[in-house]
Amino acid sequence: MKILAVLVSLLFLNNTTHAWGFFGHQRINRMAVFTLPPEMFTFYKHHIRYITENAVNPDKRRYAVVGEAERHYIDLDVYGDSALYKLPRRWEDAVAKYTEDTLRAYGIVPWHLQLMKFQLVNAFIERDITKILRISADMGHYIGDANVPLHTTQNYNGQMTGQYGIHGFWESRLPELFADDYNYFFEKATYLKSPMAKAWEAVTNAHLALDSVLGFERELSKQFDEDKKYSFETRGNITMKVYSKEFSAAYSQKLNGQVERRMRAAIEMVGDFWYTCWIDAGQPNLDGLLNMSEEQLKMIEEEKQLQQDPKIKTRLHESTLNLPADDKPTYNFGRLVFRREESEKKIR
Ligand SMILES: [Zn+2]
Repeated sequence: MKILAVLVSLLFLNNTTHAWGFFGHQRINRMAVFTLPPEMFTFYKHHIRYITENAVNPDKRRYAVVGEAERHYIDLDVYGDSALYKLPRRWEDAVAKYTEDTLRAYGIVPWHLQLMKFQLVNAFIERDITKILRISADMGHYIGDANVPLHTTQNYNGQMTGQYGIHGFWESRLPELFADDYNYFFEKATYLKSPMAKAWEAVTNAHLALDSVLGFERELSKQFDEDKKYSFETRGNITMKVYSKEFSAAYSQKLNGQVERRMRAAIEMVGDFWYTCWIDAGQPNLDGLLNMSEEQLKMIEEEKQLQQDPKIKTRLHESTLNLPADDKPTYNFGRLVFRREESEKKIR
């Protein structure tokens, strides 16, 4: 009976669960507002709902918009052991070394953040309220992703090591269960002399955490029987297979605050990026931007409708494991698998 319920739930999964699974991104964007100095805080606080709700837009787009998927990750391990040292920090240099196709095939998040930085500075200079809000929200999302260990590897969902499902486990299930106990006391945002260096620092720290992310799950799985490792939870009228609370708690304890550290790093980095863009734009006065015109409100509303199109699949970041077996090979987080064979030649 349970199996039947799970199967039935598959049909509805896309439309019903994403708001819950996107918890982490929304919290990152929301908390980042509180790191801002008074000159920025009033404006961001006024629009905190937009900044929070739209933290997940980039994920909603990733199956629908060409060029979106690769902005969320970088498969550092495909470039070999010394990837973090040999990958050019500047986009032009990286393109010259590996070609643009190759970079896009394996993810571009640290480079994309540099583009976003440029765009947000311009939005501030233009004092364009819709652009400032949209780019700020998007930027918060990509920064969130850049700080997640499993966004820096081609084994992004444990699929190469028999740990299928670990992606959502680490970045959705654990925060959903434990994030209320995290410490949300933050230093004020600081100016970044090199946002580029900061972006690379984020993926570096995320990547260095990868061994524990995978290793501890593997260790614990040996100690838990299958029926203790997973459990079923009902949300609304849907029953789902999830990592059990006991297994989640044991994993979280082994990670010793790692998820919280990565989330805090993301929150501070979002604040630092917003602040740096505002400084670089000449510290424009944002007080005049509190009230949006009818036209601007309409634009934002239309954008939201577009993002909520139920035809756009949003399976990423969900903390459940409810995917049909034959769906697994294509459950690739929007990665451009078809481009890879060709690209591999260029790297090796
Ligand atoms: Zn993402």
